[in-house]
Amino acid sequence: MLNIILFGPPGAGKGTQSEKLIHQYGLHHLSTGDLLRSEIAANTPLGLEAKKFMDEGQLVPDSVVIGMIENKLDANPNAAGFIFDGFPRTVAQAIALDELLIKHGHPIAAMVAMEVPHPELVARLINRGLTSGRSDDTEEVINKRIQEYENKTRPVAHHYEGQHKYSPINGIGEIEEVFNRIIEAINNAKSNVTA
Ligand code: AMP
Repeated sequence: MLNIILFGPPGAGKGTQSEKLIHQYGLHHLSTGDLLRSEIAANTPLGLEAKKFMDEGQLVPDSVVIGMIENKLDANPNAAGFIFDGFPRTVAQAIALDELLIKHGHPIAAMVAMEVPHPELVARLINRGLTSGRSDDTEEVINKRIQEYENKTRPVAHHYEGQHKYSPINGIGEIEEVFNRIIEAINNAKSNVTA
């Protein structure tokens, strides 16, 4: 089982690269943002609660997203592995994920961190907002989301650095170019795991 965290600020390209990775490795894609948007679309109580935070560019409470991830792990016991996209976003989520994966017997192999400078992120997200229909792809909310990332999410990188699993890559370039850097980082991590 191969468990990978694809890490990076909003607009780094995690969703695009996750799609390519699931084809390459046959992994299961777990995006907490996508799961939350499905809950909103289905008008569930969880979705209605989460929407208030998402529309403000704030993180949804840890207990909500941890519960969703736990359900997905339990529902897919025979998966070849998971790509975690947009999760964990706080150190508390990272600790909970580590505990869940220990229970399942397959800890995180690597956190691949896509590095993209802020002005580029804002430009990408404003551009995406023209077609995404996402209510949080507006300049004001984008800035709030990046602030949340800096305050609460960036420390998650240090958590995995401490476990020698942190693997930063340059997130600027053609999609294929960035993809090849991610593949290289994952292959290095795999050889460490099997070494
Ligand atoms: P994303 O699609 O990953 O950009 O997430 C969109 C929004 O969903 C974020 O701005 C948060 O409000 C919420 N969200 C997604 N994943 C998480 C998470 N792991 N923890 C807390 N909030 C999350």
